[in-house]
Amino acid sequence: MRTSPRRTLTLALLGAGAAAGALGFLTTRSTPAMAAQDSASAAAAPSIVMPLPSRPPAGAVVLFGGKSEDLTANWYKRYSKDAPAWTVDKGVAVPKEKSDITTKQEFGDCYLHVEFRTPVYPASDPNPGHGNSGVGLQGRYEIQILSDAGKEPGKSGSASLYSQKASRVNVSKKPGEWQTYDIIFRAPRFDESGAVVEKPRATVFHNGVLVQNNEEFTGMTGIQYSEYKEMTKTGPIILQGDHDPVQFRNIWVVPM
Ligand code: MG
Repeated sequence: MRTSPRRTLTLALLGAGAAAGALGFLTTRSTPAMAAQDSASAAAAPSIVMPLPSRPPAGAVVLFGGKSEDLTANWYKRYSKDAPAWTVDKGVAVPKEKSDITTKQEFGDCYLHVEFRTPVYPASDPNPGHGNSGVGLQGRYEIQILSDAGKEPGKSGSASLYSQKASRVNVSKKPGEWQTYDIIFRAPRFDESGAVVEKPRATVFHNGVLVQNNEEFTGMTGIQYSEYKEMTKTGPIILQGDHDPVQFRNIWVVPM
């Protein structure tokens, strides 16, 4: 699939709302045969690069803009109603106490922008970490963060739907370099009796490259731990700090 110059221009001009609306354009494949072909062809997948907004678009909720007050205003320390243990250093959110943070607000369909960098471990470190973190949607669906630049995509690799779906291509940058996830999330749908009629889905751009094309979460991914066992219409966003100290900046969400 190729992006025509005209389409690219349209997306650039109209921003996130249009990008979400244009997803029909990006979701032309989904037969079982083609899905089976996906994993085999992922390494050779064409790079589809979108000009995404670098600033919060109109209608965005800025969850973290660089101030410590942003953390206390919009986030809890996970499993509590306490302020996050995380600190802010030069506009960057730094995990502390091996703890996660979770948004006070819950979201359903949304466009989420997150910037992150994985830690640089000194060569002398006898036990370096893996830059393992993640972005949790609705408290139960993780888009994986990992230091795995140069490796083949995997089900637990960068920008995977963790444990379920590898990214189409691995476009991870090196530890210490800032990276972006732009995630368009479609919440599950329920019928009048409350039965699930559509599982949640995500489209993910990693550093501007399409790496998940409207892929379905087959179930919770593990990040829910003891919480959010059931599918719900809305849920919080989680940033993981309980594994490795991956840092974050510029986080915004556009509810849809
Ligand atoms: Mg993780």
